[in-house]
Amino acid sequence: MSEVLLEVENLVKHFSVDGGIIGARGAAQVRAVDGVSFTIRRGETLGLVGESGCGKTTTGRCILMLERPTSGRIAFEGVDLTTLDHQALRSVRRRVQVIFQDPYSSLNPRMTIGQILAEPLEVHGIVREKAARAARVQELLVQVGLLPQHAQRYPHQLSGGQRQRVGIARALAMEPSLIVCDEPVSALDVSIQAQIVNLLEDLQSRLGLTYLFIAHDLSVVRHLSDRVAVMYLGKIVEITDRLRLYEGPKHPYTRALLSAVPIPDPALEARREHTVLRGEVPSPLNPPSGCVFHPRCPIAVHRCSAEVPQLREIGAGHRAACHLA
Ligand code: SF4
Repeated sequence: MSEVLLEVENLVKHFSVDGGIIGARGAAQVRAVDGVSFTIRRGETLGLVGESGCGKTTTGRCILMLERPTSGRIAFEGVDLTTLDHQALRSVRRRVQVIFQDPYSSLNPRMTIGQILAEPLEVHGIVREKAARAARVQELLVQVGLLPQHAQRYPHQLSGGQRQRVGIARALAMEPSLIVCDEPVSALDVSIQAQIVNLLEDLQSRLGLTYLFIAHDLSVVRHLSDRVAVMYLGKIVEITDRLRLYEGPKHPYTRALLSAVPIPDPALEARREHTVLRGEVPSPLNPPSGCVFHPRCPIAVHRCSAEVPQLREIGAGHRAACHLA
C-alpha cells in the first residue's frame, strides 16, 4: 500500500461571527469544522461530500492554509503545516494546489492565458528562462486538452469548460503532489462535467497526482473517488471506500444523499425507496445536541438527542458516526 501523503487529525475551525475573539465570553462562534480526521494516500482520490455549509470547503481551505485552523494537525509529507511560518509554508504550498469551482473569478481578465500560466513558473523560479517558459506553457495547454494558440487568448474569449482547463493547467504548472479540487465541475454544463472529470482522471494516472475532491452530491465523486467521506455540520459522519459507500451506506444521512442520486434505469428508479430529509441543515452557530443530525434523521431514537455518536469502525475500512450503525 502506498504511503500516506496527507494526514488531517482532529481539525477544528471556528469563526467568530461578530468579529470578537474566538473563545471570548459571549462571542458567537460558527463551528465550521468540528474535529475532522482523515488520511489520503499518494495517488489516491478522496471524495469529500456534503450539503452547502457542511464545512467541506473550509476543510479544503485549511489544508491549503488559506485559513489557519483553530486547532488540529495537518501533516503533508510528514510535516505539520500548522506549525510552519510564512516562509516555510511558501515552499510547501507549491506542492499543494487548488482548482476552484469558478475559474473565471480567479483568472486575471487583463492577462492572456499564456501570461497567466507563465506567471507562477517565473515567480516560483520553476522555469527561469523565457523561451523555456513559453515552451512549458504550450506543453501545459496541450496536457489539459487545449491548443498552443490558446496562449494568446484572454479568459473572456474561452468557454466555461476551457477556462476550467486553464485552471487545471495553472495548478499543474506548480508540479503539485496534492490538488484540492473544490467543486471543479459544479458550475459547468453536465456534458462538459464528464470531460473535465475524465481529464482529471487521465492526469492523475499520467502524473501520479493525489486529489481531495470536494462536491455537494455523491453522483459527481462516484466515478473518480477511491474513498468517500461524507460531512454534515462540520463533522465526518461516514468514511469508507467507494464500493462500500455506494452499495452499503450505513449512516442515515449518506443513505438520504444517495437516494437523491438518480438511477439511469427508469424501471429501477421507479422501484427504489427515496428518503426525503426533513427541514434544512441547522445553523452551525447553534448545532443540535447529541447527534447533530437527529432533528432530520428518519430513524432517530431518544438516545440520539442526548449522546454524541463517535466516528467508529463498523467494518474493515468503514467508519460511521451513528448509534444505530
Ligand atoms: Fe440518526 Fe441517531 Fe444515527 Fe444520528 S445517531 S444518525 S440521529 S440514528
